[in-house]
Amino acid sequence: MPHNGLDLNQDAARLTAQLVDFPSPSGEERALADAVETALRAFPHLTVGRYGNNVVARTRLGRDERVILAGHIDTVPIAGNVPSRLDDSGVLWGCGTSDMKAGVAVQLRIAATVPEPNRDLTFVFYDNEEVAAHLNGLGHVAEAHPDWLTGDFAVLLEPSSGQVEGGCQGTLRVLLRTSGVRAHSARGWMGENAIHAAAPILSRLASYEPRRKVIDGLEYREGLNAVRVEGGVAGNVIPDACTVTVNYRYAPDIDEEQALAHVREVFSGCGEWELTVDDSSGGALPGLSHPAAKAFTDAVGGEPQPKYGWTDVSRFSALGVPAVNYGPGDPNLAHKRDERVETSKILHCEERLRTWLTA
Ligand SMILES: [Zn+2]
Repeated sequence: MPHNGLDLNQDAARLTAQLVDFPSPSGEERALADAVETALRAFPHLTVGRYGNNVVARTRLGRDERVILAGHIDTVPIAGNVPSRLDDSGVLWGCGTSDMKAGVAVQLRIAATVPEPNRDLTFVFYDNEEVAAHLNGLGHVAEAHPDWLTGDFAVLLEPSSGQVEGGCQGTLRVLLRTSGVRAHSARGWMGENAIHAAAPILSRLASYEPRRKVIDGLEYREGLNAVRVEGGVAGNVIPDACTVTVNYRYAPDIDEEQALAHVREVFSGCGEWELTVDDSSGGALPGLSHPAAKAFTDAVGGEPQPKYGWTDVSRFSALGVPAVNYGPGDPNLAHKRDERVETSKILHCEERLRTWLTA
C-alpha cells in the first residue's frame, strides 16, 4: 500500500475499510479529498479537477454518452465507531460504512480499473452533504464548474440496499393562518373564534385523496397533511389567531409553482385564510426512459423503486441530468452508532456497475 495513500488495487470492501479509517465528518474532509485526488491523478486515463474539497475526475474518450457516478465523502459525527471493524460474518462496522463510503469505494474502484468504459465517465466526490444545503459541495461545483457536471445520466451511490431508486418527491410546507376577534369566553358571542375557523381546513385535509402517480413505471404516492396546529391565548379567551402547518409531498411530474397552486386550490372555499410558504424543494423525475438509464436498470437488475425523501438527485435534475440512487449501503443503518455494511453487497455493486460500463 502506498504510504498514507489510498490503495485502489484492493477490492471495494477492503477499500471501504480504509476510507472509514480516514475520518471525514462534515467540515473535515480535506485529508480525504487530498487522498482521493492523489490516488486518481495516478491514472493517465482520467482528467482530474479540484474545487475546495470536491474532486471530479473524467474520462475523455469521445463516447456518445456520458454517465456521472457521484458520492459524498463526508459522514455524520463519529460516535466511537472508528476505526472500522470486520466481523466473522463479513460485515464491516463503522461510521460511514453504509452512508456512504461503501459507495465511494465502488466509485474509486471503477475509476481505477475501467480505463476504457463503453460510456464516458465522470466521477464526483463532494463534501458537506450531511449538513445545511448551502454548504453542499455538489451545489458549489454546479455553480463554479457546471461543465464538470454535464452528462446524460447520473448515479448517486447513496445507500439504497442495492436497489435502483428513481427520482425523488418534491416537498412544500405552508402556513395557513386564520384570524378572528378576541373576547372573554364568558361572552363568546362578542368574539370570532380563529380555531373554529380552521375547522374547514382540517376537514378538507381529512377527506383529501392523495394522488398515486406513475412515472416511468414507478408509483409515487403523494401526501397532504397537517403537521402542526398552533392557536389559543388563555383558558378564558376566544382566540383571534390560529395557524395550521401543512406539508405537501408530491410526485415529480409537477414543479414547485404547480404544487403551490394545487394547495391553494385544495383550500379554496374553506373560509378566509392567509398562506405563507415556509419551505419548498422541487422533486426530480426518474428519467428511467433515457437509453443510458434503461441500460443501467437492465444491467443491475431488480425492480426500480420510487425515492420518497429529498436527495441530491434533485440537484442533478435541476442541471437537466436524470439521476437515480443506487448503492450498496443500507439506508436504515445510516447515521447510527452501529452503522455497518455487508461486504458482499459492496462487491456485488462494483461488479454490476462494471458489467454495465464494460458490456
Ligand atoms: Zn448519504
